[in-house]
Amino acid sequence: MPDPFQSLLGIGDATAQRDVPLANCTTWKVGGPAMFMMRAGSRRAVSELLQVTGDLGLPLLVLGRGSNILVSDRGFAGVVLRLEGGLATAGADGDVLKAGGGALLDSVVVEAYRSLLCGLEFVFGIPGTVGGAVMMNAGAFSRSTSDVLAEARTVAPGGDERHYEAFDGKYRQPLVPEGEIVTEVAFRLSAGSAKSIRERMDESRDRRKATQPWGVSTAGSVFKNPPGAHAGKLIDECGLKGRSVGGAMVSKKHANFIINQGGASARDIKELMDLVAGEVRSRFDVQLEPEVQLVGFEEE
Ligand SMILES: Cc1cc2nc3c(=O)[nH]c(=O)nc-3n(C[C@H](O)[C@H](O)[C@H](O)COP(=O)(O)OP(=O)(O)OC[C@H]3O[C@@H](n4cnc5c(N)ncnc54)[C@H](O)[C@@H]3O)c2cc1C
Repeated sequence: MPDPFQSLLGIGDATAQRDVPLANCTTWKVGGPAMFMMRAGSRRAVSELLQVTGDLGLPLLVLGRGSNILVSDRGFAGVVLRLEGGLATAGADGDVLKAGGGALLDSVVVEAYRSLLCGLEFVFGIPGTVGGAVMMNAGAFSRSTSDVLAEARTVAPGGDERHYEAFDGKYRQPLVPEGEIVTEVAFRLSAGSAKSIRERMDESRDRRKATQPWGVSTAGSVFKNPPGAHAGKLIDECGLKGRSVGGAMVSKKHANFIINQGGASARDIKELMDLVAGEVRSRFDVQLEPEVQLVGFEEE
């Protein structure tokens, strides 16, 4: 069988690499290698790539900032795609802010601020990308990505381009069909003053710093809040703050965060997640569901 890498070379403006460690691409700083890593800066290249991976039967994972994902120590036996260049920029057009799926949320908020557009400040300090925010319906302080999302363009498996203008915003559920790649979006915002936008950005970041571990390796909230409850509170009431497995520890500041204290493996983190979920289940009869996306654990 021909080497699939040869088919990945020469796709539009995309670049291809082999055996790329994913620990450098996730905020938990764990995860084995991607068999192949592609970086693409145009929708056309993404479309071509999806045709090729479809033809070859190669699994594909699109990675944003890797701030809500746990990749196993074995890594990913397929193509990891990252969006960059023209698919990672943001710019205003009237009261609409257009952004690429690979744009960092903080840079999008800063662009809105420069354009005197308000409404996105709640994501300031969330260390993810626009694509990740659309797939997770990322939110904070009672606001969600779906509140401001006006349009999304995607590429579906096989390479077809899609366009969406209506979104069913549910808690931490994807706003476009799973498996599609978010290449560009438009946020509908409103005019605001530089002073008030700046104040809300600062407030958003300050509230995070006050309530969450800051400047350490985490993936944000590990579990979704079960209906009518807070995962962090349930975990705290089980006395699990500070509990560790290998190099992974339940944060003493926010019980729904797991910190890589240095040298944790993905297995350490997964075992700690299982331990936490087990304790909450036996004490409260509540099954916690991971918010973080698990990759490469299927056969373990
Ligand atoms: C310190 C910290 C604080 C956080 N606070 C919050 C918070 O307040 N609220 C909140 O909601 N989240 C929070 N998070 C979690 C995380 O930042 C968000 O879920 C974010 O939206 C994930 O974006 P990402 O680019 O890192 O996605 P990734 O982790 O890279 O990917 C997450 C999922 O989205 C998919 N994906 C990524 N990009 C695309 C794309 N272009 N097209 C299609 N699918 C894509 C991936 O395949 C994966 O399934 C926090 C995380 C950290 C580390």
